[in-house]
Amino acid sequence: ADTALHRAKDAGGNQTAFFETAMGDVARQRFRIERELRRGIPAGELRLFLQSQVDERESIKSAEVLVRWAHPERGLVPPGVFVPVAEQSDLICELGVWVLENACRLMAEHGSAGRELRLSVNISPRHFRLPDFVPWVCELLSIHGVDPSCLTLEVTEGLMIEDIDGVVAKMQALTAFGIRLSVDDFGTGYSSLAYLKRLPLHELKIDRSFVQDAPENSDDAALVETILAVAHSLHLQVVAEGVETVRQAAFLNARGSMIHQGYLYGRPQAASEWIPLWLKQFDQVLP
Ligand code: C2E
Ligand code: MG
Ligand code: MG
Ligand code: MG
Repeated sequence: ADTALHRAKDAGGNQTAFFETAMGDVARQRFRIERELRRGIPAGELRLFLQSQVDERESIKSAEVLVRWAHPERGLVPPGVFVPVAEQSDLICELGVWVLENACRLMAEHGSAGRELRLSVNISPRHFRLPDFVPWVCELLSIHGVDPSCLTLEVTEGLMIEDIDGVVAKMQALTAFGIRLSVDDFGTGYSSLAYLKRLPLHELKIDRSFVQDAPENSDDAALVETILAVAHSLHLQVVAEGVETVRQAAFLNARGSMIHQGYLYGRPQAASEWIPLWLKQFDQVLP
């Protein structure tokens, strides 16, 4: 079974119809998505959505950038449908370029000194591995006049499975420039503690599968506590993903201070809707 297909179905809504005709032919469907996306990216059909990342007082510290595809006939398509397809080819690099350029634009346009807009951007291994990835990102920030520390790049453990020395060198160059690095979906991959120790990281994101079951499931609770211990000993910031309930938030808060992200605090929203929400916070700050 194809995971992109299942995710499309899980997500429900109009994207199910997107796939109905293709149930019998997964390969042809992937090919169609790829061809459509090759047309759609330059046609300006991608959209940036932002999801708040909040501190223990629930004030918004930053946001994760989550791409959507506003398809002219199929409506808003979630990334679970097209990102895995894009990842099979160089298309993921084109997508990654579009997302990071537009994220930089947002930071430059809406952020300012003392009111920095901090964004986390997902980076696919194939894009990260391009030889000129590091100079390209650094130049992009410079061109837009964005403080590099406002940008966090989220990578997955899958990046660490080959050419670890090359990955470490690139990460060092990125952090030397001031960019922050985060390991996304932490706990679902294969990274060993020995590797983790070698990487110049700033942040671990606890995968939402652990967060969601932690209050009820003692194995998941133990895993969350282990991840927190690892993060603490490596002096890393922790972001808990997929916080949906007050119960989950309380479980996490009892175990230390970390950043929370999840439906409890807000769904991913179009950038044009999220920015005013974020700006509103600053009005409430008293002198
Ligand atoms: P991710 O980076 O782990 O992003 C978190 C996903 O969890 C997002 O799904 C988000 O909408 C969802 N989420 C957040 N809070 C909750 C919650 O409380 N409950 C539940 N059930 N889900 C929650 P989304 O937006 O569908 O993105 C899925 C994946 O697609 C992302 O997982 C990421 O791997 C990928 N992706 C999204 N945007 C980009 C992008 O610009 N570039 C790349 N390379 N990948 C992207
Ligand atoms: Mg992410
Ligand atoms: Mg994640
Ligand atoms: Mg995840």
